[in-house]
Amino acid sequence: MNRERMLESITAHPDKVWDVIVIGGGATGLGAAVDAASRGYATLLAEQADFAKGTTSRSTKLVHGGVRYLAQGDLSLVFEALHERGVLMQNAPHLVRNQQFIIPAYEWWEGPFYNVGMKFYDVMAGKMGLGPSESISREETLAAIPNLDQKGLLGGVIYYDGQFDDARLAVNLAQTAADNGAAVINYLRVTALTKDSRGLVDGVELLEVESGARMRARARVVINAAGIFVGEIKAMDEPAAANSVLLSRGVHIVLDKSFLQGEAAIMIPHTSDGRVLFAVPWHDKVIVGTTDTEAAEPLLEPRASAEELDFLLTTCAAYLNKDPQPADILSIFAGLRPLAITSDRNMPTKDVTRKHQILVSPSGLITITGGKWTIYRKMAEDAIDKAALVGGLAESKCVTGHLPIHGYLLNRDFDAPLSCYGADRIQLEETVLAQDPASRALLHPALPYLRAEVAWAARHEMARTVEDFLARRSRALFLDARASMAMAPAVAEILARELGRDRAWITGQVEEYTRLARGYLV
Ligand SMILES: Cc1cc2nc3c(=O)[nH]c(=O)nc-3n(C[C@H](O)[C@H](O)[C@H](O)COP(=O)(O)OP(=O)(O)OC[C@H]3O[C@@H](n4cnc5c(N)ncnc54)[C@H](O)[C@@H]3O)c2cc1C
Repeated sequence: MNRERMLESITAHPDKVWDVIVIGGGATGLGAAVDAASRGYATLLAEQADFAKGTTSRSTKLVHGGVRYLAQGDLSLVFEALHERGVLMQNAPHLVRNQQFIIPAYEWWEGPFYNVGMKFYDVMAGKMGLGPSESISREETLAAIPNLDQKGLLGGVIYYDGQFDDARLAVNLAQTAADNGAAVINYLRVTALTKDSRGLVDGVELLEVESGARMRARARVVINAAGIFVGEIKAMDEPAAANSVLLSRGVHIVLDKSFLQGEAAIMIPHTSDGRVLFAVPWHDKVIVGTTDTEAAEPLLEPRASAEELDFLLTTCAAYLNKDPQPADILSIFAGLRPLAITSDRNMPTKDVTRKHQILVSPSGLITITGGKWTIYRKMAEDAIDKAALVGGLAESKCVTGHLPIHGYLLNRDFDAPLSCYGADRIQLEETVLAQDPASRALLHPALPYLRAEVAWAARHEMARTVEDFLARRSRALFLDARASMAMAPAVAEILARELGRDRAWITGQVEEYTRLARGYLV
């Protein structure tokens, strides 16, 4: 993950023809880069901002089959996702854990109804199942979730799904791609596609965002994995290209753990707007979400509306005996789903399929849209299979079904300090922590992050800015935006030392980060 060396692999060899260039460093693009590099293809990935800066770091953090899609009868999607859930748990056991969910029953029919549905979910998971679902009594439900609203509660249904840290997995995927020989570079924006005399796409023009340097890279095949921005890349190919994504905003709020005691998550299968709502324990806090509102334009920093916040607080209050108030919100984050337009353009976004779609333009540009985090590996496999055909690449089989992801470590204790680094934890302790005992200090008493992690992120995880560290190497911005603002000056000082930046850079970074983090508060 040496950024300078990776940039040199472009600038020092302008005539090099990469097998695959991937545009976009979210789950989809990073998955594609891992797949391509592990098949032995020369692979370059360009991300205009930071890895996972887009939708990828803003998910509900579930590795799931999707109970909602089951209710919608989208069985092939649920089946595929349940299989991929199992594959991801096998390949990244340091980041994905088995999470117990409880569907509380307040109507007489809810217990039996959801019990049958979840039994079907178990059957579909087959040997990839995480545990059998079961009906439980009112007492057992309250023992698992002591602060559930007791009024009218009849019982509950337990089931299991996966839970993960989305941005950490994205960083680990970038590292896996690099471990397999790919160049994966953040702050490298694709500004244009280049074409040969036949009008076929044969490369990209790039802007290195930090220095303003411009460069070109040639490729046998280019993959557009730009998420909500796929339309912009398609327009570089064909200015009149039809729109292929529908944008849907989902908002989450993060609350203190006291709002959801116990280890179980709550799943509310039918909210007042007909959606599913989750309240899930995550890094010692609780994530509540999400909403589904059509959005007009692609934005890297979408914001929640007052109605969305009100909906989340009101729905929480209906199920918890302690009603959360706006002042209790530690962080608000919104993300835009890039939904593939495959059917009726006029249906509500909550009903649009989460299946993925791969399109090949007459110029040979491959565009991949839709899908979800859980099935990123399968999406990547399909995209690279198609890329190999379009680019005439030497035949090579996909190996990611059994490819351990960087940091792979079995039997991780999810509560132990630094455990999210998986196998890298030992190196972190033996290098940064051993060289500088002062780096053991916490950056803020409210969050578990050490000063040492900043240096590690700069040296090994390509963190370039204060935001990269606070939002995606650590998850401070998402867990407690106020505390993260207080951490910013120390993070900027350490990063400046690591990256050779001056005082003006430090001041600018802290100001910029503070502005951003204010948008994560009410
Ligand atoms: C609210 C919400 C909750 C969700 N919850 C879940 C969940 O619990 N489980 C699940 O499985 N899925 C979930 N999803 C879906 C999942 O998060 C997305 O499917 C996935 O993250 C999409 O990744 P992506 O790589 O396609 O897009 P993105 O993450 O947006 O990545 C695209 C990248 O392309 C880059 N880019 C754009 N233009 C250029 C350019 N010109 N040059 C270089 N780079 C460029 C962008 O900067 C961006 O980083 C959720 C989605 C939302 C919105």
